[in-house]
Amino acid sequence: MNEKPNIVFIILDSARADFFSCYGYDKKTTPNIDKIAKEGVLFKNAYAPSSWTGPSHTALFTGKYWSRIKIPYVNLGLSNQEKGKIEENFFKNNFVKILNNTGYETISYTINNILMKGKILNIFKKQEIDLANKCNLYIGQNVLEKPLKIPLLKSILTLRFKKAFFYANAIFKKLIIMASKKKANHKFLFGDRIGIKRYVKKLSSFKKPFFLFINSMGTHYEYQSKKRNFKNLGYEDYEEIYFDSRNKIGPLMYLVDENIPVSEKQVENTKKLYTASLNYVDEFVGKMYRELQKKGLLENTIFIIASDHGDEFYEKGIFGHAKTLNNGIIRIPLIIKFPDKFNIKGPYDDLASLIDVFPSIFGLLGIKHHETDGINLFKQKNKIIFAEHIMRFRSKKDELGICAINKDYKYMKMSDGSKRLFKNADFYEKNNIINKNKNIVDSFENEIKKIGLNEKCLGKTDFVMFDKSSLKKEMEGLGYL
Ligand SMILES: [Zn+2]
Repeated sequence: MNEKPNIVFIILDSARADFFSCYGYDKKTTPNIDKIAKEGVLFKNAYAPSSWTGPSHTALFTGKYWSRIKIPYVNLGLSNQEKGKIEENFFKNNFVKILNNTGYETISYTINNILMKGKILNIFKKQEIDLANKCNLYIGQNVLEKPLKIPLLKSILTLRFKKAFFYANAIFKKLIIMASKKKANHKFLFGDRIGIKRYVKKLSSFKKPFFLFINSMGTHYEYQSKKRNFKNLGYEDYEEIYFDSRNKIGPLMYLVDENIPVSEKQVENTKKLYTASLNYVDEFVGKMYRELQKKGLLENTIFIIASDHGDEFYEKGIFGHAKTLNNGIIRIPLIIKFPDKFNIKGPYDDLASLIDVFPSIFGLLGIKHHETDGINLFKQKNKIIFAEHIMRFRSKKDELGICAINKDYKYMKMSDGSKRLFKNADFYEKNNIINKNKNIVDSFENEIKKIGLNEKCLGKTDFVMFDKSSLKKEMEGLGYL
C-alpha cells in the first residue's frame, strides 16, 4: 500500500448544489453521492470562484482567483508575449505540478473542449482525451451504446421525422467515431461499467500514488441520461422530453441575445432533463467508488466530488451558465471522502470555495505549495470568499462583475455600476437590501480592495468570444446544438 493517499477528483460540469438530494432536493436525484457524502464531509455552503468552466478550473488548479492568472480562454486582445508570460506563470505555480514533483502519477480525463483549448490540462503527466473532442463533435451516450438503425427505421415508418433525424444524425456521428477506432474512452466517461473496471484496473497497476482528475460533461447541457433515470425520478414523459424538448432547449441556453419566448413547460422540461442527468452521473460516480473499493484502492484514496459552476433554470430569465453570478450558477456541491485514518467526517457548515480544496488537501498531507487565495478549511474558517464573471463569454447580455460573500450576505458589484446585497438565506436573490445597509457594503468594498479584485479588471470586457459562424461551430463542440 502506498503511504501517500491517492486522490480522485470528479468535477461534474454545470452541476448546481440545490438539485442534489444530499443538498435538499425533494427528489432522490443522487442516491450514490448521498451515501458518499454521509461517509465523508459535505460542504453545505460551497461556492464556485467563477461562472464558467475555464476560469473556475484555473482557480481550482492554482488556488487563485482567475483575475490573478488571466489564462485567456477568450480573445482578450493580449499579445503573444503577454500570453506566453501568463502561461509560464500558470505552468510554474499549480497544484498538479507539485503533485508531479511529489511522486504522484497524474492523469486527467475529459471531453470538455474549453479545458483543452486553454491547454491547462497540459500540467498533467497523462491526458486521456477522447475522440469526440478531436473531431469537435459532442457525442451523447446514446450514440455509442444503443442500436440506432432499428429505431431510425421505426421512426421513419411511423412518420416521426424529428426522431428519425435524431437517429440519422447519431448514426453519422457514430460512423465518424468508429472510423477512428478509438471509441473505448467514451464508454468510461459516460459511466459504462466495463469502461470503469478497465480504468480502475489501470489505476491499480500504478506503483506510485495517483491523482485522477475527471471533468464529466454528463450534467453539462445537453444533459445526458437514460430512460431509467427518468423513471427513477418519477417522470413519465421521457420520449417527449428527451427527443423533442432537448432539441428546442439548446438555443435557449446560448442565444440569450435573441429573446426567444419561453413557456413554463419548457422550464419544467429543462429541469427534468437536468435532474435526470444528475441521476445518470450519480450512477457513474457510484460505480467508480465501488470499483475502487473492490480493488482495495478506496481505503487509501481521497475521493472528491464537486462542480465548476451550476446552471440557471430561468429563475432570473436565463438558462445555463457563463452569464451572471446568481446563486444557481455559483453555489456548487463539494463532498470529500477521506480514508478512515484521517478521521474526518460530518457536514461542514462554514463557507468554502473551490479554490480552498487543494490548499486543504495539501495542508492535511503536509505538502508545501505556493501562496494562494484559498485556505486550509480544516485549520481556518473563511471570513469572505469571492466569485468573478469578468470575461464576456458568449452574450452581450452578460452581467459582468464580481461578488463577495460572507457568512450572512452576498454583495454583487457589476461592471455596469449596479450593486446588490442579499441575505444568504435569500437563495433566489429576490430582496435586494443594498439601500439599508451602508456599513455592510463598505466593509465588503474594503475586502474587495484588499484582495485586489476589480469588476473591470481587464478593462476590455466588451467583446463576445465568437462571431456568429464560429459560435455555431463552438456550440456544436460543447453539445448545445
Ligand atoms: Zn463548466
